[in-house]
Amino acid sequence: MAKETRDRPVVGIDLGGTKILAGVVDAKGKIIGLAKRATKPEDGVEAVVERMAKTVREAVSNAELSSGDIAAVCSCAPGTIDAERGVVRFAPNLHNWENVPLAKLLGDNLGLPAFVENDVNLGTLGEYVLGAGQGIDNVVGIFVGTGIGGGLILDGKLWGGWRGGAGEVGHTVVLAEGPVCGCGSRGCVEALASRTAIERDIWAGIKAGRPSLIPEIMQRDKRQRLTSGALAEAFEKGDPLVREVIGRAQFYIGVLVGNLVNIVDPQMVIIGGGVAEALGEKYVEPIRPVAYQYFINKRGSGDVQIVSAKLGDNAALLGAAVHARRQLGAG
Ligand SMILES: [Zn+2]
Repeated sequence: MAKETRDRPVVGIDLGGTKILAGVVDAKGKIIGLAKRATKPEDGVEAVVERMAKTVREAVSNAELSSGDIAAVCSCAPGTIDAERGVVRFAPNLHNWENVPLAKLLGDNLGLPAFVENDVNLGTLGEYVLGAGQGIDNVVGIFVGTGIGGGLILDGKLWGGWRGGAGEVGHTVVLAEGPVCGCGSRGCVEALASRTAIERDIWAGIKAGRPSLIPEIMQRDKRQRLTSGALAEAFEKGDPLVREVIGRAQFYIGVLVGNLVNIVDPQMVIIGGGVAEALGEKYVEPIRPVAYQYFINKRGSGDVQIVSAKLGDNAALLGAAVHARRQLGAG
């Protein structure tokens, strides 16, 4: 690998169902140019790829560079990814994309080497190389959002699994015969502790006549949807309903962490996503004792670090940049 490539910036793209975020990242892992655009997946694959390419060009120009300065691009995508072939196998959040050769489409459009990986895998990779997991080679990442996803770093490498499906931690059953999950099973941790589950339980409480600050906060902020920020605010103000519901979610995340530690034996578990990051230490603190209780190997339990993610909304983008570099052999 020529030193020149090693030193050149790459572009990381966070492709989600609502927005495209592209960032030019230098060899030290610093974002030096950003651009954002709506995804509008309903317009179809071609339109989305064109929008991604535009966002990349804008980010490159914001970094005061030209495309010739860029070594490669890498995009994350939500869903099942064949990273080796650069294909999005299935992405329900992108209007059911199926077998889209995203790496090729993007690479041809931009005239650059292009790669694709799953968003949560890249979020975990980003946290491992540039965030909370720096210097720790066995890491499990859990991202709590509308769903719950995860990623595994084993001996310093992203572990994709035989079919590229590793890290689906959200569908770990933690309450047999529990509430129905989006996947059709019952009692998955996603159905008990995701933001969607938290919202469901809070509205059920309010409907049943429990007092809560949530309707007032949402009205004040003119929000239709319950945001992580509103949840964190109500939690901080001691809203008993919100505290109870989030506390229950934390308990089930603790059970999940216990299960994962028993299988993988990582040195660190990083928990990210809107609610987790909005509450920070207050979110992870009650998770620790629950997780420790489920560790089968109690020796040095306290040395297994359970921490909150550090990179916030940029985790996937930065992970994509790290992945691009590694694919070029420049990581
Ligand atoms: Zn499930």
